[in-house]
Amino acid sequence: MPATVTDKVALAGFRRILGESAVLTDRETIAPYLVDQRRLYEGAALAVLRPASVEEVSQLLAFCNGTGIGVVPQGGNTGYCGGATPDESGRQVVLSLGRMARVRSIDAANYSMVAEAGCILANLQRAAQAADRYLPLSLGSEGSCQLGGNLSTNAGGLNVVRYGMARDLVLGLEVVLADGRVLASLGALRKDNTGYDVKSLFLGAEGTLGVITAASLRLMPRPRATATAFVAVRNVAAAVGLLNLLRETSGDRVSSFELIPQIAIDLTTRHIPGVSQPLAGEYPWCVLCELTSSRADDPLDSMLESALRDAMDGGLLDDAALAQNERQRAAFWRLRESIPEAQRAEGPSLKHDIALPIGALPRFVEEASAWIAAHVQHAVLVAYGHVGDGNLHFNVNARRDTDPLKLVASADEIRRYVHDLVAAFGGSISAEHGIGRLKVDELERYAPPVELELMRAIKQSFDPNGIMNPGKVLRSA
Ligand SMILES: Cc1cc2nc3c(=O)[nH]c(=O)nc-3n(C[C@H](O)[C@H](O)[C@H](O)COP(=O)(O)OP(=O)(O)OC[C@H]3O[C@@H](n4cnc5c(N)ncnc54)[C@H](O)[C@@H]3O)c2cc1C
Repeated sequence: MPATVTDKVALAGFRRILGESAVLTDRETIAPYLVDQRRLYEGAALAVLRPASVEEVSQLLAFCNGTGIGVVPQGGNTGYCGGATPDESGRQVVLSLGRMARVRSIDAANYSMVAEAGCILANLQRAAQAADRYLPLSLGSEGSCQLGGNLSTNAGGLNVVRYGMARDLVLGLEVVLADGRVLASLGALRKDNTGYDVKSLFLGAEGTLGVITAASLRLMPRPRATATAFVAVRNVAAAVGLLNLLRETSGDRVSSFELIPQIAIDLTTRHIPGVSQPLAGEYPWCVLCELTSSRADDPLDSMLESALRDAMDGGLLDDAALAQNERQRAAFWRLRESIPEAQRAEGPSLKHDIALPIGALPRFVEEASAWIAAHVQHAVLVAYGHVGDGNLHFNVNARRDTDPLKLVASADEIRRYVHDLVAAFGGSISAEHGIGRLKVDELERYAPPVELELMRAIKQSFDPNGIMNPGKVLRSA
């Protein structure tokens, strides 16, 4: 439904609800809200709205629903698919949740916390720790991404192999629906089989069904022992073999298992100050793996050492370094977490956030790498990621000495090849980053038709006027 009021009337309505200072229109002030993290999209907006309470969000959505104004929810604006960026019309509003950043309660006995959508993830991790509990969601962007964005993208990150995706940590949600009604479902129950699980529809919906204003999260016992190693594996199949060995021998204490190619080590050591080569030699593939336990006296170091020795004897590894202290552990993680930044510093890249059954990874990487090497001379493959979850960031970076426009020109062909191969292997074209604006066409191409029909029916039922994040995930009707 097109907007039925003038800009002047709309702005007066927003100011009536929020007051003057929470309705931002100054061009310079709103500029950062209008560009996505990867700078793929630059939109325009009638205003950036900064509500401070669920009541304000409710009134804003009721107003926008009645007047046909598109609403783009925004958290930390770290998303990779342009989901939090308004379109170019200048007729949408950005709804920034940053002022709703209160931890409402922590129930240590119930291992749960209730927090508002605008809480920065790292602050929530600290709040849980202060209550002697652990919030396992952890991403490279945790210093700026927000809970609402994490849940709306169903973020993954570094601990999924042990604790699951963002959705697996949600016990309850508070959501403002498109028409302003509030779904108050902030229960903290682990068991609740009372009909359809409506709240789960908002997890991964990327703001297209409603605005998440708060969540009740599941917490875990705090890890008190950690063992971390940087390991050179023979190939991707050896990495999968090592993962299985560690899972079997450690009693499932594997909390992270990240694949890192030599080229990513080269990029980080070149572009990120303080990052150094973790092993003496250079190897095509490495793994950063970590075991954790809530028992302080769990002998994780010896467990990891003995598994690595077995793997070495079995011909899976060439070299390994066990972190001897927290400083070394932090150095290993700094290398891993700065890969995206190093890639950006190197030049433009084409990103594929894909998931495959773990056992299919070696054959996929072999086939896809060979195709890239044969067909894309002006770029290099930087394939890394959360292999413990079958998730690879299969990225193609423009070579430093070539014109980046060559990569742009061949982007469609490369994307088609990679995604077709992913589909042939029974994988997903979006493992953890979502669809946003970037992959609307790809979703249409690869999603089963019946699933797409159901998605459209859900959208129509939750948001009949199409005001919630129009054009994201699904094409606007
Ligand atoms: C360095 C770096 C590392 C990263 N590593 C990972 C990683 O390991 N795993 C991973 O999954 N992602 C990763 N990301 C991507 C990104 O950080 C995640 O997608 C994150 O969950 C987005 O949170 P945000 O608050 O920034 O959301 P935004 O970018 O602001 O928004 C993302 C989407 O959610 C919607 N949204 C935001 N808030 C709400 C709300 N309250 N209600 C309804 N909809 C809302 C927006 O409309 C948009 O569609 C990384 C990004 C960077 C820059």
